[in-house]
Amino acid sequence: MSAMSSNTENELVFLPLGGSNEIGMNFNLYGYGPPDDRKWIVVDLGVTFGDVTTPGVEVIMPDPAFIEEHARDILGIVLTHAHEDHIGAVGWLWPRLKAPLYATPFTAFLLREKLRDAGLLDEVSLTEVPLGGRFQLGPFDIELVTITHSIPEPNGLAIRTPAGTILHTGDWKIDPDPLIGGPADIEKLRRLGDEGVLAMVCDSTNVFVDGEAGSEAGVRDALFELIAGLKGKVAVACFASNVARLDSVVRAAEAAGRRVSLVGRSMHRITAAAKSVGLLQDVQPFVPDTEARHFPPDQVLYLCTGSQGEPRAALSRIADGTHPHVNLGEGDACIFSSRVIPGNEIPIRNLQNKLADRGVRLYTDRDHPGIHVSGHPCRGELAQMYQWARPGIAVPTHGERRHLLEHVAFARELQVPEQLAPRNGDMVRLAPGRPQVIDEVPAGRLFLDGGVLTPENSEPLRERRHAAHNGVLMVSVVLDRKGRLATDVGLRAIGLPGDEEYPLEEALDDLAEDAEEAVRKLGAEERQDDSAVRAAVGRTLKKASQRIWERRPVVETLVTRV
Ligand SMILES: [Zn+2]
Ligand SMILES: [Zn+2]
Repeated sequence: MSAMSSNTENELVFLPLGGSNEIGMNFNLYGYGPPDDRKWIVVDLGVTFGDVTTPGVEVIMPDPAFIEEHARDILGIVLTHAHEDHIGAVGWLWPRLKAPLYATPFTAFLLREKLRDAGLLDEVSLTEVPLGGRFQLGPFDIELVTITHSIPEPNGLAIRTPAGTILHTGDWKIDPDPLIGGPADIEKLRRLGDEGVLAMVCDSTNVFVDGEAGSEAGVRDALFELIAGLKGKVAVACFASNVARLDSVVRAAEAAGRRVSLVGRSMHRITAAAKSVGLLQDVQPFVPDTEARHFPPDQVLYLCTGSQGEPRAALSRIADGTHPHVNLGEGDACIFSSRVIPGNEIPIRNLQNKLADRGVRLYTDRDHPGIHVSGHPCRGELAQMYQWARPGIAVPTHGERRHLLEHVAFARELQVPEQLAPRNGDMVRLAPGRPQVIDEVPAGRLFLDGGVLTPENSEPLRERRHAAHNGVLMVSVVLDRKGRLATDVGLRAIGLPGDEEYPLEEALDDLAEDAEEAVRKLGAEERQDDSAVRAAVGRTLKKASQRIWERRPVVETLVTRV
């Protein structure tokens, strides 16, 4: 084939820019057309969260730079479900993509909230698609496939193109009794398999777990039993977005003669969204926490945010004793109807220790199996899905590297003809020909730092991290017109220790002398140059600090000329 004809041949490509090699910030692209004129659809636009390595940065999102250049060719952005790792970046990144949004009603409700917060509501076209609905975006014929997960209205996508059909599963599990919404549309999945699925792009979160994730109905039974036997006040922590779980907790509370009080902003936000699509209907009204405090302890149940130990969430404030209206103590109980998300072990342990210290009895899924189930498919469910869809190519996503590679091995075991686990930025040609990575495009992350989107590991963050570990020295150098020291060098330290043997004051005096010496040693011309003065002082003080503290603090030198 000549270069020219290969350039005009229509191709179907898959390009993850987030969510492949990580669990979080899902951002998937499908492209169709000749390489120099592809049309794109985006599936999901999510965030991930910062940790101890990103001090001050709580929200992280994919860098859309690559697709921003092709923004005119984006036909639509389809959101599979309303979890933050799938829709959290819409308010931030939509202005760079400017394509119409498509989502089912519950997701659309929460999207509108985000767009309102971002001041974009009037600018964005958001189309509500009914569950199981079908719509056309250029060469992409998109049909929603109802699935089950841990939030209302999770959708898989059947994406039909002239080059073949993709089943993009989204986040899913097979819950035979999900309590709210319908069960998974297994009939449609089978029919798709009969029709022929070129590639399945599939959730890998639980690929290391045998069996099945379990059902929300089972959790309801376990919660009914547990809550019925509790005395004192009861708090239940779970993800607000798991409306089936909220519904179970509310009904278990009612059965035990308790009224429910919602604690935490997202509990209010999600229950409003749930009610807007007809969920949580025949339950007693929630009691404001300002009133619930006057209820007898055994007649109240608090439904709280903060199961992951998030410091500002309701449960952390209760544990700290700083919540204005809710306090738990001796004889009360706290149920964690949630799992420990990897990375949150330490904050959760701290939270639980504080609660225990108040005399609160803790119930977690470790000691009470059954009070939580995962929303992602275990191996049994994955095997089932491969049997229904029978894809030609398995493309694992929604996982760290180890998850994706295990998923590849599992798909091979299940005799899926081709398997491929791209990394963020790998452009995979799915058709024509054997699937392969044909390009690598930039796929970085953006940090939301003090309300500003910055490149990952920007200078301010690097500085903050360095200062946190090493401390800061602030130096004031005052020079006269000839570049001579007009006063002694002033020095202040932040986060640097001293002891009786070598008090901090003394160390700073010594450092000031070193700095003065460094300035004096500069040539007359260099002393007229502020940056040369700053560099000399910085070099000298870092070296001296290494000797004193075995670390190199941030040195900030202010040069003044009089
Ligand atoms: Zn997800
Ligand atoms: Zn999800």
